[in-house]
Amino acid sequence: MIKDDCIFCKIANGNIPSYCLYEDNYFKVVLDIEPSSKGHGLIIPKSHADNLFMLDEETASRALIIAKKVSPAIMEVLGCDGMNLLQNNGEAAGQTINHFHIHLIPRYKNDSVGIKWNKNSLSKEWAEKFVSEIKENIK
Ligand code: 5GP
Ligand code: ZN
Repeated sequence: MIKDDCIFCKIANGNIPSYCLYEDNYFKVVLDIEPSSKGHGLIIPKSHADNLFMLDEETASRALIIAKKVSPAIMEVLGCDGMNLLQNNGEAAGQTINHFHIHLIPRYKNDSVGIKWNKNSLSKEWAEKFVSEIKENIK
């Protein structure tokens, strides 16, 4: 399904130009227009899904396989030191384009990319209650 007013539907289906690193029947991998580091790519399915939870399982599986296929080429060409895969779901999580995508973010030692969080403590009581609630809720 393609959503008429979705910019990533347009990019993935070639209706808006992009720097394309990889393409198959289901996906396009393009350079991010505002890269966090040199070579920052986006894996975008051609079919619209708002986020990971709306994506069918086959497309979700393929997305990770594409990350595994394309990332080594990016790393080889750039000679970077690492690679983050980042996938945001929901505004609170930093999602700005409501069409599922995975960021491929090349990392360099001492670069200025900020994917960090404060470390908090995990209480036994909370963890035990949470684990049992989650087990009851997984569908
Ligand atoms: P999000 O914040 O939703 O996880 O990531 C959206 C990403 O899409 C951002 O990194 C942003 O720079 C990128 N982006 C937004 N508009 C365009 C566009 O028109 N073309 C490309 N190639 N990337 C875009
Ligand atoms: Zn879309």
